Order: sequence, then C-alpha cells, then structure tokens
Amino acid sequence: MSAAPQPSVTVRVPAKVNVQLAVGGRRPDSFHDLANVFFAVALGDEVTATPADDLRITVSGPDADQVPLDGSNLAARAARLLAEHHGLRPDVHLHIAKDIPVAGGMAGGSADGAAALVACDALWGTGTSQDVLLELAAELGSDVPFALLGGVALGLGRGEILRPLPVGGTFHWVFAVADGGLSTPAVFRECDRLRDEAGHGSDTASVPDPQADPELLRALADGDPAALAAALANDLQPAALSLRPALAATLRAGADGGAIGTLVSGSGPTCAFLAKDAESAVSVAEALAASGTCRSVRVTHGPVPGAAVTTGG
Ligand code: ATP
Repeated sequence: MSAAPQPSVTVRVPAKVNVQLAVGGRRPDSFHDLANVFFAVALGDEVTATPADDLRITVSGPDADQVPLDGSNLAARAARLLAEHHGLRPDVHLHIAKDIPVAGGMAGGSADGAAALVACDALWGTGTSQDVLLELAAELGSDVPFALLGGVALGLGRGEILRPLPVGGTFHWVFAVADGGLSTPAVFRECDRLRDEAGHGSDTASVPDPQADPELLRALADGDPAALAAALANDLQPAALSLRPALAATLRAGADGGAIGTLVSGSGPTCAFLAKDAESAVSVAEALAASGTCRSVRVTHGPVPGAAVTTGG
C-alpha cells in the first residue's frame, strides 16, 4: 500500500560543478559524447510541492525573474512526466526557492526537475522506485539524473549514463557568480567553431573519444585537494572564455587569492575555485569579492547527497 498523501513536501537539491568535462566530436545528431565528472556541492535550491487545483510554479530568490513560470520550467515538466507515468493529473503548486545561479553552468534547472520528481512522488504517495525516477530524469535532460543521485559520478554518453565514484573526503569550493548567463548550446557551438578554426576539425572522426582521467579519479578517491586541483579540466572553458573574455580576470583573481585550482563551471559563466581547506576558501572568497570581477561570491563544500525530502513526505 502506498503512503498517505502529505499536505506539503520540501526537497533540497544540490548544484553541480564538473570537475572534468571532456567533450567529444559533434555527432551527426549535433550532440556531443562527454566524459563528465559531476560533483554535487552544498549550494542548492529547495522545491516545495503543495496540493493545488492545477499545475502552478512560483519562484523566489535573487534570480527569480529569469526563471520561466510556464510549462517549460523543468520542475513543471517533471511534475507532468511523473503524473503521466502514474495516470494522475499534475495538480500541484511547486514553489522553487532558488539559490543556484540561473544559466550559470551549475545545472540549476535540472536540479529543480529532479527535486520536483522527488517532491511530487512523496506528495502523491506514488512510491516510484529510484530506477524509474532515474529513467524519468533522463527523459527530462542529461543533467537531471545526477541531481537525483548527488555525490560524485562519472557521466558518459550525453551525461545520462551515470556511475557513482568513491570520494575520500570533503573538498572546499568557492564560486564566483557572473552577471548574466551563457546559453549551453551556444557554448557547445563555440567549442566546435574554435576546434574548426584551429584546424583540428570538430566531428567525431577528428576529436578523440572523451575519457575519464585516471589521475582525477584517484585524487577524488584519496580526498586529495592538491591532486584534484592539478587534474581539473573543462573542454568548454576556451569556448566560455571566448564568448565572455572577462572571465579570464575572474579566474586570475581567484588564483591570486590563493585558490589551488580554478575552472569555469560547466558551460559557465560561473567560475569554480578549489581551496586547500575551509579557512583558505574564506580568503579566496574575500579576494574575489574585493577584485570586482564577479557579481557575487559563494563559499561551499561537497560532495553532498542528491535531491532529498527535508520536510513532509
Ligand atoms: P547546465 O549547467 O545544465 O547547462 P545552467 O546551469 O547553465 O544549466 P539553468 O540554470 O539550468 O542553466 O537554466 C538554463 C535555462 O533553462 C534558463 O535560462 C531558463 O530559461 C530555463 N529553465 C527552465 N526551468 C528552469 C528552472 N527551474 N530554473 C532555472 N532555469 C530554468
């Protein structure tokens, strides 16, 4: 028997940074195969599901005005998909308390999609298995399954084939949030353009198959920040820097402020800085804030678990 429905359910869900993002050649369907090491950080959104007469989305937080409230919102799409799977009507009010920068390369929309799946499943008492939730998540988008799983995981294919990875400790991060976002498809197009311009070619015959870096996997398993810092890699970084040259100054300010590793997060424009410990993360953040090269600065840590109910359910 399924659990009795609850009056309201809140789910917390993490943002991600890609500690490795290896991008293969452009496939005939225009997608790219990736070797993508996702890392969930404590910075996150909260999605609260409450019974309602129809599907409704509200959003609060500093970037709320940039989040669509219509059926295109990933949380709304998730509610519809889960309801359809169980033959229900998607009558729910989803409130997103948004702390993840929008279009920042931290998979905030995907996180909200994962959170809505978990929140609606608990609210409706539908008891969906984790395997089915992961399948529905993959239908919503290639970054959504990881937001369900959390921790650290290797994503292959378009990112939707996930293998959890062992991690030997907590890592301390600082994020520099930029003004305005970058469109992920535009950054992939720029990556292809730069590869063509350099004469290497951008199709699957010209670009080596993306592979996870064994040194990076070892650094994670050992919980070794210096080794992880040395192995951080993002094939989209040159494209993000080409579209947003000002990010070079942000990366430099973090390095000058004591970060042991720097990289653009995913497709950017958020920049990620690995610190050697919690204390050093605070001084990196102070240096970034003083540099005037970003809109805001966040200190956080990880890995943390994926989307999970905090209230209700
Ligand atoms: P990724 O790292 O997965 O490429 P991102 O972090 O760069 O994504 P998102 O914050 O997920 O970008 O948002 C990308 C676009 O998705 C936004 O500009 C917005 O139009 C749309 N979107 C749909 N649902 C949401 C949501 N719940 N929160 C934020 N954006 C959403």
